[in-house]
Parts: sequence; structure tokens; C-alpha cells
Amino acid sequence: MISPNLTPSFPSRLPQVGTTIFTVMSALATKHQAINLGQGFPDFPCDRDLIAKVNEAMLADHNQYPPMIGVAELRHGVSQKIQNLYGHHYDPDSEITITAGGTQGILTAILSCVSPGDEVVIIEPAYDSYRPSIELAGGKTIAVSLELVRDQHGHVSSYSIPWNALAKVIHAKTRLLIINTPHNPTGMVWQKADLDRLAKLLKDTSTLVLSDEVYEHMVFDGAHHHSVASHPELAARSFLISSFGKTYHVTGWKVGYVAAPISLTAEFRKVHQFNVFTVNTPMQYGLAAYLFDPSHYLNLPTFYQAKRDFFRAGLEQTQFKLLPTPGTYFQSVDYTALSIPEAKLPEADFCKWLTTEVGVAAIPVSAFYEQATESGVIRFCFAKQEQTLTTALQRLQAL
Ligand code: PMP
Repeated sequence: MISPNLTPSFPSRLPQVGTTIFTVMSALATKHQAINLGQGFPDFPCDRDLIAKVNEAMLADHNQYPPMIGVAELRHGVSQKIQNLYGHHYDPDSEITITAGGTQGILTAILSCVSPGDEVVIIEPAYDSYRPSIELAGGKTIAVSLELVRDQHGHVSSYSIPWNALAKVIHAKTRLLIINTPHNPTGMVWQKADLDRLAKLLKDTSTLVLSDEVYEHMVFDGAHHHSVASHPELAARSFLISSFGKTYHVTGWKVGYVAAPISLTAEFRKVHQFNVFTVNTPMQYGLAAYLFDPSHYLNLPTFYQAKRDFFRAGLEQTQFKLLPTPGTYFQSVDYTALSIPEAKLPEADFCKWLTTEVGVAAIPVSAFYEQATESGVIRFCFAKQEQTLTTALQRLQAL
């Protein structure tokens, strides 16, 4: 290895960023052979038919650069899907771009519209890529917190959108507001009335919206996902982000898309072409063929609701207080009511203890805030096989 002294030093672009809690907890889970309900990914295989479709694309020699904006079949499929589900037509040629997962879509959207000094509002707890992406663009992050609703014993029982705080920080020149529904980590989903209220709040501003909807197909109990695409006023100022990784159990493929009005897409593509230029060709063809059958995403709520209900029923046998999970594949719980001394630990320490001593890894919700905010809530991922959930539940029930 070259001596570090020989390498010139330079100021970090992201001085605050270290190793994420997801990496830390996953490494700890591996070391202690804990069941990993921390990081959000399925532990079951994807559909063999999807793999076959990608293989077919490779064998059909779809292995060179695809168009910069994405394979036409996939963009048309996405446009059709959005039209069917949310009633808005995005032109597949000028308003839909295929990205290397949701994360690249988020970074590229931010880089394309945020100039140094611009204010960007986020709502914490927030997905961890938002803040560093804003910083890389030179923007200023303004964070407001979801309001915590507490029961009579002081335990967190749900969250609500901080409308008053949002109204205070958003002004005519706020460049961008980032929203996320269904929401990681809380599982909260926005209602139609929330979109109406947001549209009203932004009416006299030039604020754009980045709507992170990567969990759009995981909304339960017969409810619907309310996309910015379903709201013409919001659609006109929004980047809509989604990811095939979540929907088709292929988080490692890193393919997603961004739908946005023509002027936003034009700026988005200027950055995209020098950011990744384009995305894995055979995966795009495979996904396009698979997307053709809507049952794959239409069945997803039933599939994940069964897992959610199974996991929640098991957690009911513990002293954890369950928060509602109307969407996503995350279940949050308040652990402060457990009658063990560790219930007094801060969230990150509690999660480390749970991983090393109990053998179940979880993620502290405090990690989704810039200034660690202790609310006594941790997040489990239930995108797991029944056997995995059963073993984790047995360990949690022994607490
Ligand atoms: N947004 C949220 C809220 C997420 O939870 C994730 C994945 N953890 C992403 C975006 C990124 O999706 P992808 O893996 O497609 O980059």
C-alpha cells in the first residue's frame, strides 16, 4: 500500500459523512450472526421469469449502450403504468428517464436544479441520501421534523406532517422541497388531502418538489398510494422518483426512473448524461418485458401485507409498542416500555445491544435525523421469509 503521506490532502466535500448506520448494523449483524432486520432488502429470491427475461435480452445481444434516456420499451411501459394508476400522461420521450436506481435519480434531480446557496427543505426523519446530495450541489438543507404523536404514557404512537413548520420555512424562493411517501422509516403515507394542502402551500412560490415514491406499490388495507402524478398542480412542479428494486425484489440491480415535466426533464438529462450517461441495457429490456404484466406490482400490497400482519401479530406478544404501518416494508416500534434496563438506552445503543445480545438487528430512527433526535423508536424491515421473521420474533418474544 502507498504511504498516505504521499497522497496530497484536500478539503472533504462531505466532511460530516462517515460510515452509515446501515453498514455498521449489517456488519455487526454478520459478526454476531444476528437476524438482519436492519437494512431494507428482501432475503427471498426474485421471480425466475424476470431473470429469464433479462437473460433473453442478453442472448438477443442487447449488450451495448442503450439510449441516454433509457430503452424506449421501458420508458413507454413506465408512462403507461403511471397513466393507468395515477391518471397523468408523461411523454415517454421527453418526460421519463431511466436511472441507476432511485438514489441516482435523487442526486441527479438535486444537482440539476439546486445552485450554490439555494434552500432545500427536507422532512426528518429522512432517507440518508437527501442531505449529502443537497450539500454536493452547494445547497442549504432546511430540515423540519415530522410531529410525534404520543399516547397517554408518552410513547410515540404515530407521526403527522408538520404543516406549521413547513409554512414557516418555505418562502417564495425556496428551490426545492423533498417529500417521501410511503415514508422510510416511519411507514407513514400521504393522503389526497395532504397533497391538496401541499399544493396550496406552494401555490405562490417557485418551489419545485422531489417526490420520492420508491415504495409506491406497498400501501396496505385497501388504501391507495397518492402520487404527485395524480395531482396536476403538483405534477407540474415535481420530479417523481421510483425504483424497480423495491417493486420487483431486486434491490441490487439499481434501476429506477424519474418522471418530470419537459422543462425539468431537460435539465435533469443535462446532468444525467454526464453523471451515468445511461443504465444497464439487458436489465432495462428484461424489466420492460416484465412490466408489461401489471399483476406483478398490483399483487404487491397483498404480498407485503401478509408479511406485515404476520410480523405485527408476533410483535404483539412482546412489550414493544407498535406504530401503525400503512405502507413500506418497515415496522417501527417504541421500545421504551420494555421492562429491562436496556430500555433506557439511546436508540443506537439499544440497536447495537439488540444485535449483539438478542441476535436481531434493527435501525435506530434517530439515524434519520441530522441532530440525533431520541424518540425511543427503532425500525425493523419485514421484507423477509416467514422463517426469518419467525426466528427473529422468537428472540424478541424472549425479552
Ligand atoms: N428512497 C428511499 C426512501 C429509500 O428507502 C431507498 C432505498 N433504501 C431509495 C430511495 C433508493 O432506492 P435505490 O435502491 O433504487 O437507489
